[in-house]
Amino acid sequence: MPHYQLTLPDGRAVHIRINHEALTISIAELLVYTFDLAGRLYGLFDHDVNVRRGLDGRMLARWRDANHQRARRWLDESETEAIMTRMRQDVTSVVGAFRMQGQDNRDNDVAKSMTLKVMQHALAFDYETDVQRFRHIYRPISILPPDQYQALVLQATEGCSFNTCTFCALYRDRPFRIKTPEEFATHISEVISFFGPGISMRRSIFLADANALVIPQRRLLPFMEQISHVFHLVPAEAPPSMRYKWLRQNPLAKQGVFAFVDGLSAERKDIEAFQELRQFGLRRVYIGLESGHEPLLAWLQKPSTAADMVDAVQRMKRAGLNIGVIVLLGVGGRSFAEGHVRDTATALNAMPLDGGDIIYFSPFQPDPAAPYLRIAQQAGIELPSSAFMEQQRHQILSALTLPPPPNGPKRVPYNLADFVY
Ligand code: SF4
Repeated sequence: MPHYQLTLPDGRAVHIRINHEALTISIAELLVYTFDLAGRLYGLFDHDVNVRRGLDGRMLARWRDANHQRARRWLDESETEAIMTRMRQDVTSVVGAFRMQGQDNRDNDVAKSMTLKVMQHALAFDYETDVQRFRHIYRPISILPPDQYQALVLQATEGCSFNTCTFCALYRDRPFRIKTPEEFATHISEVISFFGPGISMRRSIFLADANALVIPQRRLLPFMEQISHVFHLVPAEAPPSMRYKWLRQNPLAKQGVFAFVDGLSAERKDIEAFQELRQFGLRRVYIGLESGHEPLLAWLQKPSTAADMVDAVQRMKRAGLNIGVIVLLGVGGRSFAEGHVRDTATALNAMPLDGGDIIYFSPFQPDPAAPYLRIAQQAGIELPSSAFMEQQRHQILSALTLPPPPNGPKRVPYNLADFVY
């Protein structure tokens, strides 16, 4: 990876690195900016604070508090503006120093001119127009699984085909619909044009919205076909060394297609249907189990039962897909706690999860726009504390009989509040 070392006129040391995905500028080792190759600011580390800029222009700051707990907050407009102003001043100084002192330890002129070009793009980048274009091309991207935050989202559908779950308001702002093949083709070309050279930073394709795999197979396959014509998807069996090479060679090379599914929609697809989707590049499917406890799922008005979801995971695994299973911690409070812990562990243990799979533990955060708070209050169900949710996570983990990684599924946290796209 080309690496340049400079000194700014005020004495601060600068390190610049560029690869096929991003440009990073580190100033005095305390401030690190990351840009995609279109020059679009992706985020920064400022001392111990990690700030991620969303494509809608908002910025989320995350840090560890005095008790080493994760903390986060959205920055207000004046803070966002201040960051952009300082970024432009810093990049201007860095470009000046780079022109004066730019030394490539491999004397690589191509990398050097590429580095300068991305920094110039960063200075000239029109963020206002970019945000407008983003809002025109996309409906709000409500959530992604944590390992897909850097995906290229393609919205084959809009909204959720159910919108019944009492704890969820992620897609209540839009009616469910499936795009026509023509609309989807236009969407893909608009997305590619929007990201420009920055598309290389997006490693995979996430087929959105909430449960894109609800699309009937005869309509879904042409969408998958369009994707595999436009993008160069890494073959499923490619070894890690080949994957990296593949991604480096072409900005449209992606690790595969990823999507959410709900238990009911998965019910409508058999093993052969999932195998077909895998052949077209589907790699991992994310399913919101939330709980294995049927009375709790019914109370939450989930569209599918735990038994449906276990069955769906078994079929998807047999089709060769990787799975992400999402467990909601604390939902249903103490009233449901015993059954939630016991039956969730039972459901997870009944899933043939292996080293390619992930179990996500998501602490429940009530959304005021969802009916949950009102319904829970009527039922006398209290809101879960962090300690209570942490205790549930431990209880479920200790009841798992699945092997630990690398042979068994990874167990990872999934905090919805960390999501930025
Ligand atoms: S939890 Fe999933 S299925 Fe339920 S309303 Fe939200 S997006 Fe739809």
